[in-house]
This record gives sequence, C-alpha cells and structure tokens, in this order.
Amino acid sequence: MHEIDINQVNSLNYDAIIAGSGAGGLLTALALSAAGKRVLVVEKKDYLGGVWHGYNVNGYRVDQGLHVITRITRGAFVRFLTTFLDPPPHFVLHEGWYFRVHDRVGTIPTSIGGTLRWPLTGMRGRLGLLKIGAKIKMMKLEEMKKYKDITFYDFMVSRGATNQVMLDVMQSAIYMAAGVPITEASAYESLRTLKDTDKEEPKLHSIKKMLFGSDEYDEGYVIGGMSGLVERVVDAINGDYILNAPVERITEENGKIHSLVVNGVEIEHDTVISNIPLWSMPNIVSSDNRDVNEFFERWSRMKITKGVTLWLGLDKIVLGDKKNRVLVHPPPNRWIVSISSFDPSAAPPGKELIGIATLRDESQSLEEQVETIKSNGFEKYYSEVLNHIEMEHVQSSYATRAALIPGQTDLDRPGPLTPIDGLFIVGTDTAGSGVGLQQASNSAEGVIHALNDYWNLSNVL
Ligand SMILES: Cc1cc2nc3c(=O)[nH]c(=O)nc-3n(C[C@H](O)[C@H](O)[C@H](O)COP(=O)(O)OP(=O)(O)OC[C@H]3O[C@@H](n4cnc5c(N)ncnc54)[C@H](O)[C@@H]3O)c2cc1C
Repeated sequence: MHEIDINQVNSLNYDAIIAGSGAGGLLTALALSAAGKRVLVVEKKDYLGGVWHGYNVNGYRVDQGLHVITRITRGAFVRFLTTFLDPPPHFVLHEGWYFRVHDRVGTIPTSIGGTLRWPLTGMRGRLGLLKIGAKIKMMKLEEMKKYKDITFYDFMVSRGATNQVMLDVMQSAIYMAAGVPITEASAYESLRTLKDTDKEEPKLHSIKKMLFGSDEYDEGYVIGGMSGLVERVVDAINGDYILNAPVERITEENGKIHSLVVNGVEIEHDTVISNIPLWSMPNIVSSDNRDVNEFFERWSRMKITKGVTLWLGLDKIVLGDKKNRVLVHPPPNRWIVSISSFDPSAAPPGKELIGIATLRDESQSLEEQVETIKSNGFEKYYSEVLNHIEMEHVQSSYATRAALIPGQTDLDRPGPLTPIDGLFIVGTDTAGSGVGLQQASNSAEGVIHALNDYWNLSNVL
C-alpha cells in the first residue's frame, strides 16, 4: 500500500474504501487484496493500525498496550496472517499463567488432581473450585448463552461459588477478555473465556481434559512485535492510504451509500467499509432515514474497555522468561510480562523490556495509578525489577471498543451490515467472539462474507 494525498484520489481506482485503519480495517483490506481487489484506506491519525501499533522509546520497542495473542494455533487472527503473509510471521508460545496471591503462586489448575492440590486456597476453596470448574468444563455453548444477560459474579453467587481467592483469580483471566470487573462482565462471555471455546469439543475430550488436565497453552507473542506485524500487513495490501484524513461525513442516497467527506473533499463510492468506532457514527452518517439514524444511535451507546500499561526498560535481564504473571493480591490485579523474553529485539542487547497492565481506575489520576501499580506488593515481589529501571513509559487508552457486558456480548452486536446498502461496518464493537485482535479478525471475516454476497463472489476469503 502506498501513501497518497487526498488530492490524488481517483475513486474509480478502488474496489472499496476503508474508513479507519484499525486491526478490523487492515485485516479486511488484506483479505480483499489477496482476492485481487484494490482498496483506499482513509485514516484520521498520522499512523496506521489504530490501537494495534507499536513504537520505540529510548531503544525499547513498546506496543500500544500489553499484547498477548490468544489462540495462536487455531484463531482467526493468526489464520489471517499465516494465510495472507508469505512467509508467515513467527509466533512464540508463552509458558503459562502464574497467579500470585500474597506469598503463594499457582497456575490455572486443569485437572481434578491439580485442583485438589491448588496452593492458592485451603481445602474448602479447592472443593468449591472443583465443583464449579467441572460445571464450566462440561457446559455447552448453548447453555452458556442463557447467561448472557447476567454478570459473571451473579452467576457464581447463584452457584454458591463465592470463595474470594477463586473469584479474584478468575477476575484476572476475565479482565483480559471483558475489560471490566467480574461484577460487570457478562457471564456468557466470562464462561467462554474460562472454557476457552467458541466451539463445542466432544464430551469425551472434555472429560479426559478434566481428569488428566492439559498443559496446552495457546497464547503468546510474535517476533517483530505489533509494529512489525502492522508493517507487514500494510506492505501486503493492494492499494493506497491517506493519513491525517478524518472522515467527517458519510452520505447516502435512496438507501445506498453515496460518498465520504474527508477534510472537506467528497469521495464518491458504492462500497465503503467503516472501521470507525460506532460511538462516532451518529455524528458522521448523514441521512434523512429514521431507520438509519436509529441504527447508529443505538449502537453508539456501547461501554468501552480502558487499560493502563506501564513499560519498564531494565538495564539487565531480571525476569527473563515467557511466563504470564498476575499479581492478584495485594490488589489491584496486575499482569506482568517480559516481552523481550519472547523477542529479544524488543530491548537493547543484555537488557529487558517488561510490560505491566491493569484496568484503568478512573477514581485515580494516571500518575496516582502508576504509583499504585509500582507499590502494593510490587515492591515486595519484584524489588529487583524496580532497582534496574532505566526507561519508564506509561500508556492509557481504550483497549477494545466494546466491553463484554450484559447487552453487549458478541450475540448482541450489529454484525457487518447497516441499513445503508453498500456501507459495511467492522471492528471490535461490531461483532466477533474472542478477545481484542481475535475479535477484530472475526469481525473482518464477517465483512468479507457480507462482501461475497454483495459482489456475488464466492472466493474472497
Ligand atoms: C492496552 C491494550 C491492550 C491490548 N491487549 C490485547 C491482547 O493482549 N490481545 C489481543 O488480542 N488484543 C489486545 N488489544 C486489543 C486490540 O489491539 C484491539 O482490540 C484491536 O486492535 C482493535 O481493532 P479495531 O478494528 O476495533 O480498531 P481500532 O483500533 O479502534 O481502530 C479504529 C481506527 O479508526 C480510526 N478512526 C476513528 N475515527 C475516524 C474517522 N472519523 N475517520 C477516519 N478514521 C477514523 C482510528 O484512528 C483507528 O485507526 C489491546 C489493546 C490495547 C490498547
């Protein structure tokens, strides 16, 4: 893809226009390019990728947010990249989750035996975990759907599963997916995260896993980081892009898409894919049609997820492994990963890059929250990290555009179609199960299928 200026645009050169270059927009463009289509990507900011990007700080390569790629062996995100990039990117699996509750550390128990030996609670807590763990493992997706409108906390209370340590550990896992505490997260989405499923597995397989456990971890990181991935995706897209180009208006005529207005310039086209967050759309879509306005008003009221990431560059290697560590107690839940252990090129030779992430707590200023992240047990358990900081960098942003709360589960999303013919929507708030990049990829897949129908094609994806 090549950068051009708004005045160089000839809309006849493109099969589709993509408004917004987040993961949803770029992955859609990637799949369309592979099918021989040409696109124009129009981006408001001065870089491509949306919240999926990375940059350098004093010799360290940080991502926007602490990114762990889920479902490396079977998810839509990795499938997109391995199908459409040649050679495929190199993913590195992590070594598992390690939860710290004060002086004790435990992984996620995956078998009956493992649960009965779980070091983080006493026997009563372990028995409670065994009961609820077995229930969740055997639960079918159809049954989970029944709980989409209650919170995970309410679900656990209704099952008598109220051991605080167990809830706190589950909170750590669910935070990654839902972006909100378990008192707000949809039970359906939380159950799916804990069971790590979009699909049913055969019952025998579930029972075997329950009895004997499984140490299959399907999460990790990628060599080259998020910036490396975005760069490769951008290179593989067939078309052009414009930066610093906010879409100010999307117009329709007689129920069909007519044009985009960008920096005062009107670009006419009959196929537009919008990756613009739905919360902005009521101010951008210009229509006299009540259905159109109601559609965008309705979906603009989604609650978003917000995260804080503290990046620390260390003058020597302190952690040096690929574990996902979560400091559960003392609170707040903090997720700690040594990114340079996955990809040493993220830090200068002999040094280490560590990311620490948590939910944004709006009751504190960002500075206060960073102090909390570095204290409350961090100084006790990671004093060596604090003694070797040579680079410190803080980020705060929305992580995904729709929190997985009741009323906003993937079952409640609008999908790729809008009431305007030829205007499609993509992004983490439009559709898609999974987490973050997985969700963006699932939504891109949805748009590609909708475009197959729109263009009467069978082979775009
Ligand atoms: C802190 C943090 C941690 C994360 N951790 C993980 C993780 O561990 N695992 C994981 O899988 N994912 C993770 N993610 C999530 C993942 O990066 C995002 O979910 C995904 O990238 C969002 O994609 P999106 O398609 O919804 O687009 P967005 O990133 O929301 O992109 C929208 C794009 O549209 C542009 N735009 C907006 N308005 C306009 C306009 N008017 N005109 C033109 N352009 C416009 C924006 O500038 C942006 O480029 C994390 C993200 C963050 C920030």
